[in-house]
Amino acid sequence: MMIQGTLGVLAILPFAVSRALQGEWVMVILDLLIISGIVSLGVYGRNGANFRTVSTLFTLMYTSGMLAVISVKGPDMLFWAYPTAIGGYFMVRLKVAISISVLSAVAITALVYEALSAFQLSGFVVTYLLVCLFSYFFAARMTQDKQRLAEQATIDPLTGANNRRALDDAIESRVSLFSRRAAPVSIVIIDIDYFKRINDEYGHAVGDLFLQRFVEYLNGVIRKSEILFRFGGEEFVVIAEGRLEEASNLSEKIRGLFEQAQLIPDHAVTVSIGVAELGHEETSREWMKRADDALYLAKSLGRNRVCLAPSLESKPKTVSFDESILVEKENA
Ligand code: GH3
Ligand code: MG
Ligand code: MG
Repeated sequence: MMIQGTLGVLAILPFAVSRALQGEWVMVILDLLIISGIVSLGVYGRNGANFRTVSTLFTLMYTSGMLAVISVKGPDMLFWAYPTAIGGYFMVRLKVAISISVLSAVAITALVYEALSAFQLSGFVVTYLLVCLFSYFFAARMTQDKQRLAEQATIDPLTGANNRRALDDAIESRVSLFSRRAAPVSIVIIDIDYFKRINDEYGHAVGDLFLQRFVEYLNGVIRKSEILFRFGGEEFVVIAEGRLEEASNLSEKIRGLFEQAQLIPDHAVTVSIGVAELGHEETSREWMKRADDALYLAKSLGRNRVCLAPSLESKPKTVSFDESILVEKENA
């Protein structure tokens, strides 16, 4: 939007100056109105206004500017219709862009049909629609590619869970949200016990299949608002809304599920889980470290258990703690 706005101002400004020199004051006012519209919307957008609203207003504003210029100066100004239409396809949703460009084509035809021969008018309409068609396909392709790249960047290809990069972003955004609106949130790290043995005993391919089934099971037990991430090879993370106690209940449910589930016939595969609730002024790194320490404790206490990092809420932020103050949650 900023690039289009800057280009728009740079393209229109010389015309405004040359029209001022020629004394065409109506056109000067129109050009200045368009330029000030672009600048004000740019400022509005920079100040955090909703991107979709700003880009729609932006497109409507320069489309009306283009129509006003054509209505004042006539068919000489027709060529402005092309960049205006192309810009729309890269600014607003495709359906909106199609509606705007079709309505523009009708409005332009109404404005110039008396001044143009049928041949000239049909030439304009056909080239305008072709430009819209190319812009549509190009913008649709770009949107698809963007979605695919975003997916590739954030989804683990083996299990379909969110990947480590997505986890880092989610943790950062949860910590920053917490500093503004302290809704309690907890992190649950789940590590499969002795997973290496599955690989050793049944082969890597079975290990992969196991991980896929494991994620299916996990997705079945967590709520829609809780997001699952693959943190490392056989380590997973759930960001759970709510206090330590709720996250502890969820963790116990997960632990019990895998204790019972026979993902490999006659071979119980258990999990160890570490849980930590985000504390006030705690950094993402500190939060993760506390959950990781709790997981480490669960492993060292014999696996197949849930360990909770004590809540920081009652303690001053400056108190750093070590794993000796972690508490173990008794198995059910
Ligand atoms: P612990 O109870 O201490 O967690 O023991 P563990 O065997 O689960 O842990 P360790 O860290 O020793 O081994 C993890 C294993 O996970 C080793 C690695 O080969 C395996 N692994 C990691 N990623 C994948 C994967 O994508 N596919 C398969 N099949 N195995 C994986
Ligand atoms: Mg493990
Ligand atoms: Mg591990």
